[in-house]
Amino acid sequence: MPIEEALSSTMLRDRPEVTWKYLWEIAEKCRTTLPNRCHEILTNWQKHTPNTWILTQNVDGLHTKAGSQKVIEIHGRAATLRCVHCPFHTDGNRFLHDERRYHSPHVPKCPDCGHVLRPDVVLFGEDLPRRALKALEQLAEDGVDLVMSIGTSSLFPYITAPMQLAHAAGIPTVEINLEETEATPFARHILRMPCTEALESLTNNANFILPNHADND
Ligand SMILES: [Zn+2]
Repeated sequence: MPIEEALSSTMLRDRPEVTWKYLWEIAEKCRTTLPNRCHEILTNWQKHTPNTWILTQNVDGLHTKAGSQKVIEIHGRAATLRCVHCPFHTDGNRFLHDERRYHSPHVPKCPDCGHVLRPDVVLFGEDLPRRALKALEQLAEDGVDLVMSIGTSSLFPYITAPMQLAHAAGIPTVEINLEETEATPFARHILRMPCTEALESLTNNANFILPNHADND
């Protein structure tokens, strides 16, 4: 079955056990994956330049796990579980781990009303979260100095949009990716190298990202 079908809102409604077969795998992966060096570097950048925002299409929550503050998770976060019927929501990692739920795959149910629980992510066929969209809009309204597309496949138009808008407004754009993507035409600077290497290098050399401390003396 195509993933678009299994992880769709209609499948969750009609045959939640099918959707959950995939969700267990995603949940387990999110639970056991730790932030990598790229996440750490971006967190450090935010410490030096607090106005740095991160837009991610990943649902693993790793930017937040790495300590990043201003993160727009446009596809939601897998680690948060919510009820499809009532306001119940909970930390998915803890909830799924309880009662050895991880070892007996099934459809987790709401302890308050008994309806199906689901991760707080955007399934195929669903709208993007309003809060994330609002944060993005606000960011565009406030204006930015630089947009970087880092290691993303840029398959969704809203992931490419910040690069496209910045490019049209004459704002510097950078793409870090081993391959050409939909965002490439809008990149003023292109780094065809692994993200870690590129981010380490920028951290060590670029005054335009980290504040120049010599100027502050
Ligand atoms: Zn409920």
